[in-house]
Amino acid sequence: MAVPFVDLKRFESGFLDRWMEKVSTMSSTASFIGGSEVAKLEVALCERLRVAYTVSCANGTDALQLALRAMGVGAGDVVLVPDVTFWATFEAVVNVGASPVTLDVDPEDGGVDLTSIIRAIDNYAPKAAIIAHLYGWGSTQLKAIRQLCTERGVMLLEDGAQCYGVEYNGNSIYQDALISTTSFYPAKVLGAAGDGGAVFTNNPDLADRVRQLSNHGRTQHYGYASVGWNSRMDSLQAAFVNLSLDHIEQRLASRRQSAEYYRQQLRGLPLRVMDVPEGYVENGYCNVCHLEAPLRAMLEAVLKAEGIGFGNIYPGALSAQPGAEGYIHAAVSNGRAAEYCTTVLNLPLFPYMTADELEAVVAVVKKTLV
Ligand SMILES: *Cc1c(COP(=O)(O)O)cnc(C)c1O
Repeated sequence: MAVPFVDLKRFESGFLDRWMEKVSTMSSTASFIGGSEVAKLEVALCERLRVAYTVSCANGTDALQLALRAMGVGAGDVVLVPDVTFWATFEAVVNVGASPVTLDVDPEDGGVDLTSIIRAIDNYAPKAAIIAHLYGWGSTQLKAIRQLCTERGVMLLEDGAQCYGVEYNGNSIYQDALISTTSFYPAKVLGAAGDGGAVFTNNPDLADRVRQLSNHGRTQHYGYASVGWNSRMDSLQAAFVNLSLDHIEQRLASRRQSAEYYRQQLRGLPLRVMDVPEGYVENGYCNVCHLEAPLRAMLEAVLKAEGIGFGNIYPGALSAQPGAEGYIHAAVSNGRAAEYCTTVLNLPLFPYMTADELEAVVAVVKKTLV
């Protein structure tokens, strides 16, 4: 049985009809930019994530750049970034003119290694740091990292593109961040029908600056207080996300169940399915396994032959990317990131996977590794 890595087409019954209806009414009223759907989404996210301010924008990469700019990060500033994350986290730092210092990974949770942050703060006087909550949870050390950054005067930006629905100590993970972001890229947990993103904060000044920068630095129709750019979220995307919010709890439940199924079923094999760190409720964004590189290669070959999709999130450290050359100010490392990336493998995971699909994936993994 073939199983895709991700299948974005499994909409709830009636969902696509409601979407088509929205497209039709919004098109006939030419409601394309701003308006009630965007406002409704921002209010809904504030309520659901228990943050004071949500500013929607064009995509998750812009969200990071808007946050950095709002924090006053620019040319000459050092920003700490994880060495294991999506490229956009790194790119955002470079694109605002700042210098990235990469941080090693903590192989237990996939977040940044706390000792690397401490060393980097001691040695490079960063203005800000970015951490990314990958895989559907956050760092075991999140509280300590937030505290450390506050104490040392380093502004902490949390890239939450993958963590919609994650709970940390009973709260939304976004709730206690100084400033955080998400992405509505379709394959994310809360996806749009195209690109979209948002910045979250409890700080009114940061929220104001993000809002202004995302709309050309505009203060009135032809009045500009700063140089921003156009990063508005379009209204159709907001409408799609609003419709998705009606089903998000079911989707999260389905994802979490599949994530846990893999954990239960793959015990005792020569592979480690990453666990949810203490204090977290995961969102089931993805499955994450680690197995020795030769075994991984063997398993990947069998999965391919059987028509089962898989991923490697992420296949290499950012500091090793050719595009990073010339931009990296320093790399603070215990030498773990490269190895971590050579052992990571992600099995199919998306909402409404069937029991047959899950069993088929597990059967192939078992027959290959037992
Ligand atoms: C997806 C993602 C982004 C970028 O979001 P876009 O909406 O695609 O620009 C940034 N950071 C992480 C960790 C992501 O997974």
